[in-house]
Amino acid sequence: MSEPLIYELSVPGRHGTQPPELDVPEYPLPGDRVRQTLPLPEVSEVDVVRHFTRLSQLNYAVDKGIYPLGSCTMKYNPKINEQAARLPGFVGLHPYQPVETVQGALQLMFELQEYLKRIAGFAAVTVQPAAGAQGELTGVLIMRKAQADRGETQRDTILIPDSAHGTNPASTSMSGLRVVELPSDERGNVDLEALRSQATDRVVGLMLTNPNTLGLFEEHIRQVVDIVHGCGGLVYGDGANLNALVGVFKPGDLGIDVMHFNLHKTFSTPHGGGGPGAGPVGVAEHLADYLPAPVVIKVTARQDAAQENAAETRYTFYDPPRTIGRVRSFWGHFGVLIRAYTYIRMLGGPGLRDVAENAVLNANYLRSRIREVYHVPYDRICQHEFVAEGRFADAPDVTALDIAKRLIDYGVHPPTYYFPLIVHEALMIEPTETESLQSLDRYADILLTIAEEARQDPELLHTAPHNAPVRRLDEVQAARHPVLRYKRET
Ligand SMILES: *Cc1c(COP(=O)(O)O)cnc(C)c1O
Repeated sequence: MSEPLIYELSVPGRHGTQPPELDVPEYPLPGDRVRQTLPLPEVSEVDVVRHFTRLSQLNYAVDKGIYPLGSCTMKYNPKINEQAARLPGFVGLHPYQPVETVQGALQLMFELQEYLKRIAGFAAVTVQPAAGAQGELTGVLIMRKAQADRGETQRDTILIPDSAHGTNPASTSMSGLRVVELPSDERGNVDLEALRSQATDRVVGLMLTNPNTLGLFEEHIRQVVDIVHGCGGLVYGDGANLNALVGVFKPGDLGIDVMHFNLHKTFSTPHGGGGPGAGPVGVAEHLADYLPAPVVIKVTARQDAAQENAAETRYTFYDPPRTIGRVRSFWGHFGVLIRAYTYIRMLGGPGLRDVAENAVLNANYLRSRIREVYHVPYDRICQHEFVAEGRFADAPDVTALDIAKRLIDYGVHPPTYYFPLIVHEALMIEPTETESLQSLDRYADILLTIAEEARQDPELLHTAPHNAPVRRLDEVQAARHPVLRYKRET
């Protein structure tokens, strides 16, 4: 089915360029300074174009089909985002330029801060952190410094539910704090008893993902926030799942003290395959002075009292007085900020609300289409994603991994698997709002077909994928001894 991968296209003497006629006297370069042989491929233009086009088609991409990786919000990235990011006035900027010469860029950063404040209900926002995980680290450092300023240096613990994303305990440990894991109750919420028993004066705060990685809205969120505040702790919101809430609900209104946004999830912009992303952090009023420096502010100065309306507006950088310092060189991932800004401006408030409503509708539609065949352990109305089990009582040796690999044979991307850890053989499915009814139906049909195959021909699943450019990979070897570039056999 797939054509063999041919890398050796070089033919001696073939080339793809026509140098102009020599119109200056020929002058030999000193022999010892010039390499006599350079092992470059000798290929024509068409060879090169076909080679790279073929390679690009071996990849799966969100521009090719559904990409329902739970927790990752792999939504379609509108092409206008890319056009905006490539505007010459943005592309040509240098980070060392004086602020007077980059007013447009600062205006964009300022307005993005303002939009994010309004979207999530925070008093202040920094757009500096480079990713969600770095936003978490930033947030934890802010919480710690604010408490240290109150003399509460004995606080050394962050509470994290067992359904949390791996970056939560990782960023907490990096900040030097202790992690205590909280169990989930039978409905997938934070176990309130366990939370109460841990709520002491050693708690810096709770990291709460809402909706959580089961795709479920925390049903006791008000109590959770009150218990944490009751012991003097702060609530960190992991905002990676904002796609379920954007335009509908503001986490800041519920008393969340700090939250990161994943611009590369909720606000489209490309990610996967390693980034780049951006993880702005929003804070409540009482933490605004601790944000990383600098933030962008707008200064309006009256030029002349006689001309009352002649106010001059400019943008500049500002160091908050109790800042934790810098978390990222220069001004963050500016290209991602442009894309998110464009996305927000294109959709507007009502459009963002449509995003959340359709993301939730799509996830619930897919869940209801497969739930009789794939067991859904926390089976209630979900938010933007849900977690099913990839195992069947009457096909006991088929695993979630087998199902994921078999999906590739049907030309679609598998969901996230084996996460969250609290579900056996987890298949975590997040279709996003950008999938049509037809696309959702096709995915559901494929999953149901695979469940049939699991019973009739389990070997077909164990040996999948059959049609992909590469078969099942040895993921341990791939991690330990990665082969990162093609080497010609000699
Ligand atoms: C993606 C994600 C993160 C981490 O974000 P990165 O930008 O990948 O660092 C944290 N928490 C949750 C729930 C996520 O889905």
